[in-house]
Amino acid sequence: MVGLSVNRDRENIQDRRKARLFGPIVIMTTAGLAMLVFLAMFLVMRFDTVAAEREQRVVENGFNRQIREFDAMVVPQVTWDDAVAKLDHKLDKRWADLNLGAYLYTYNGFTRSFVVNPQDLPIYASVKGERAAISTYAPFAATVESLLPRIRGLEAMRPPFRRKAGGEDIITQPIQANALARIDGTLFAVVATLVQPDAGKVLPRGPRAPVAIVAMPLDGVMLKAFAGRYLVDDLQLVPDWPTGNDKAAVDLHGIDGARIGVLRWTPRRPGMELLRQIWMPALLAIALLSLIAWIVVRSGAAIFSELLASEARSRHLAFHDPLTRLPNRAMLFARLQPQLAAIDASGPSLAVLAIDLDRFKDVNDSLGHPAGDAVIQGVANRLRTLCGTNALIARLGGDEFVVLQRDVGRAAVAALAESIVSAVRRPIESEYGRLEVGCSIGVAIIEHAGVDPSEALRWADLALYRSKEGGRARVTFFEPEMDAALRNRRSLETDLRDALHEGALHMVYQPQVDRGGAVVAVEALVRWIHAERGSVAPGIFVPLAEECGLILTLGEYVLRRVFRETGHWSAVRIAINVSAVQLRSPGFAALVMRLVAEAGVDPSRYEIELTETALLGDDPVTASNVEALKHMGFSIALDDFGTGYSSLSVLQRFSVDKIKIDRSFVAALGGADESEALVDAMVKLARALKLDVIAEGVETERQKERLVSCGCREFQGHLVGMPMVVRELATLIGEVLPALEPTPAEIRLRA
Ligand code: C2E
Ligand code: MG
Ligand code: MG
Repeated sequence: MVGLSVNRDRENIQDRRKARLFGPIVIMTTAGLAMLVFLAMFLVMRFDTVAAEREQRVVENGFNRQIREFDAMVVPQVTWDDAVAKLDHKLDKRWADLNLGAYLYTYNGFTRSFVVNPQDLPIYASVKGERAAISTYAPFAATVESLLPRIRGLEAMRPPFRRKAGGEDIITQPIQANALARIDGTLFAVVATLVQPDAGKVLPRGPRAPVAIVAMPLDGVMLKAFAGRYLVDDLQLVPDWPTGNDKAAVDLHGIDGARIGVLRWTPRRPGMELLRQIWMPALLAIALLSLIAWIVVRSGAAIFSELLASEARSRHLAFHDPLTRLPNRAMLFARLQPQLAAIDASGPSLAVLAIDLDRFKDVNDSLGHPAGDAVIQGVANRLRTLCGTNALIARLGGDEFVVLQRDVGRAAVAALAESIVSAVRRPIESEYGRLEVGCSIGVAIIEHAGVDPSEALRWADLALYRSKEGGRARVTFFEPEMDAALRNRRSLETDLRDALHEGALHMVYQPQVDRGGAVVAVEALVRWIHAERGSVAPGIFVPLAEECGLILTLGEYVLRRVFRETGHWSAVRIAINVSAVQLRSPGFAALVMRLVAEAGVDPSRYEIELTETALLGDDPVTASNVEALKHMGFSIALDDFGTGYSSLSVLQRFSVDKIKIDRSFVAALGGADESEALVDAMVKLARALKLDVIAEGVETERQKERLVSCGCREFQGHLVGMPMVVRELATLIGEVLPALEPTPAEIRLRA
């Protein structure tokens, strides 16, 4: 469940990141395309509006020009010497038929022609080129009457005609007026022109001349010609202004300024026409662009997804162990931090389980690393099954695992830990056969705020260490004392390192005496007087040195010092303690040989004290070291005899020269009878094997007597001699003290 939701979360995050990147691109592309379309439409409409406005002006101006052209058409027929003769001097109706009615109708389309006399009364009428009754003038009378005052006014202001010198023609300015008028439902352009001479050969008869009036109906023929001239589609004359904005129009006004009609037409829309022509290719181009954008976004999204996935993969690798796919140390710390930070006085607590496999090294060494990997994977799977999805299981490397369990009681954690121990103990079936390991667990339950991740793990590790120490396959809960003990151990370790570096350790020598009390040998024992702690017992700092890897330095220090202090003695043998760790070190015999050569001592006067456990097992290095030491001339004593597991075979195999009956047997003498029997048996055994024997820890005369009665001939203990510094011992045994500068510890001691 948790795994699934984590995946879903990760996918959601990826989707969000994708949307964040590509959302704006898609929006911007769409908006860009929309803006392009909008801009195109705006331009088309603007283009059309400008074109329509221009067309309107062209039509308006064209119409006015058309009216002026009507005026001009009449001028040659009326401003003419002949017209003065035929219309003014007398009325020649046949002339009028020919030159006004028929001519202007046939060539210019004026359907009406009238002539009014100087008194403004109609004297001639023609309709469509045919002479007509004077009564046909009546409908036009009102319009003509409104034009005549202007004509008469201009006529009155006209200068009198004077013949020019040299018979040159007079140039006459035509006197005209025009108007649009609706007559009998038809719209007419009416032009009134004063009859005047053109060349001045025939002059007007009186002060006022007749006026010729022509009228042109604004009908289909005229409009068609006009529309054709100005390239206007669908031109119509209508009474009212059109509704709907797909029409353009121009108002036509009568002489009184009122609207008498409307010229209406369908305006040209060049923008729309262009759009009609290009919309298909434009749409295709937009579709193509959209397709390209889509492909780019799609492939970009695919590349981005791959990048995200590879980023997620590398992040997973950085935070997970490749073998088990469990979180690794980095992930553990990352998770531990917030979980610890969330802990306060009210909870929740956090249990940290440090798990370490027992006998894992054996599997690796005997069956190889692939078998080791199979074990690790098997254990990881069992942990997954046991801990469930609420716990965090991490592999720190090697055979170390950590489990974090939130907010569970101590009993539940203990039950879980126990079930892990028994689950791991079950054999793992693999292609390498049945693999058997176990595990030890340390548990730290964190209930207080302010603990940092490394501290929490260290506590669990301390508890784990106790489990290992306590015999493995067990669960230990961390207690604060463990930490204190560890801190103490750490500081002691540092101090020991410094003490060895400064040469602050010194030797004491304890006499070994024969039955008569004569000192036959001494045992060299190391001493450490700590500046603050005082005397630290070798029983504490020697094992510490063994554990923290200082024992080789310490051992070399002891050998060098003992050889230097006792090198010239000849009366007594000197026993030196050597640890099992030193004996297992491959270069140990060579080191001793070098030190012997440096100090110029005789090894046959020295005895190496080994413990029984040092000789257990069949370590080849130990065997070769012992052999080399014996070869150099050292004798070998088996210390603390009876407390270990040494067998007769050990005594023989290593050619031990002497056994030291452990002081626990000596102390028991005088108590139960069997202790005496045991000591008796040990002495007899030594005799049988032709070994020397010495009893250590002799504190009372009674013990000594018993030992004597058992056949023991040499004794060591407080009764016969306390350990003493070299100066004291030299005096005791009458040996010369070598010229030794005192060690810092000796200086402190004397002070
Ligand atoms: P050990 O080798 O068995 O040394 C004898 C221990 O018995 C010494 O303790 C000595 O002081 C103590 N002892 C002697 N007579 C009596 C007695 O009558 N009564 C009692 N109760 N104790 C007596 P110490 O010096 O504390 O040494 C303890 C152990 O530390 C030694 O046991 C030895 O295993 C180790 N050790 C001491 N010096 C060295 C050293 O230089 N190198 C190594 N590797 N181990 C050393
Ligand atoms: Mg000893
Ligand atoms: Mg001993």
